[in-house]
Amino acid sequence: MRSFGACGRTRSRVECTKGRGMSQAEDLVLAYRILAAHGVVDAYGHVSVRSERDPHRYLLARAMAPELVTADDILEFDLDSNVIRDEGAALYLERYIHGEIYKSRPDVHAVVHNHSPSVIPFGVTTVPLRPLFNTGAFIGEGIPTFEIRDFQESGDLIIKTPHLGRSLARVLDRKPAALMRGHGSVVVGESVMMAVVRSVYLELSAKLQMQAMLIAGPNGKVVYLDDKEVAATGVRQASAGTWQRTWDLWCAKACAQIAAERSARRRRSK
Ligand SMILES: [Zn+2]
Repeated sequence: MRSFGACGRTRSRVECTKGRGMSQAEDLVLAYRILAAHGVVDAYGHVSVRSERDPHRYLLARAMAPELVTADDILEFDLDSNVIRDEGAALYLERYIHGEIYKSRPDVHAVVHNHSPSVIPFGVTTVPLRPLFNTGAFIGEGIPTFEIRDFQESGDLIIKTPHLGRSLARVLDRKPAALMRGHGSVVVGESVMMAVVRSVYLELSAKLQMQAMLIAGPNGKVVYLDDKEVAATGVRQASAGTWQRTWDLWCAKACAQIAAERSARRRRSK
């Protein structure tokens, strides 16, 4: 199974990578751009994809702001999160998130780590994120919270060791995402498309839930999707290829941005 989305079928995607052929690295660049465009990542946060050539490796950018990532910045890692080449490159401290999840979840082909702003309040309160609209139905599968104090004495909140990466993967278990208390979240998918789509809608759903709770007030009621609605929505979205239209739109916008940057560079170099 291809582990990346279907950007390659869109006209925009072809124009975006004209003359270079399709590659997982280029799909990953689009994922970085899309996440940045939706405010899911800012100067921090990252997305990786399991290698098509070797399932025991994954691709991730060198340490840099997501919106500036190009295909030349994509590095290859083993599942212990050692870089394969490019020993001198600056690496994300939190790359263990990716390697340890790929080890424990053979079904996962893409991982997003972000500090998605609307999601963070749900990681520091006892209010659970709940599914309240169609595109956020996957939240009904359950979103656990990773409490780093359960796995280290005290310290900062960064997943900077294999032990913490393994612990996070254990809390994530078989779920589509996990909140990280006081930090952000991790979101996974069977493809880059699914991990990115879930990340964007996790942020939107958190925002909508806060608004609904505010409108309802302390004595009001918010009606969430029930288990049957969650299951039926997931089945329909998968069988109808719901996310393809979304993904094609986002890829087209990301490609347009990349093309504009390239032409600006060419103008400057003349
Ligand atoms: Zn982080």
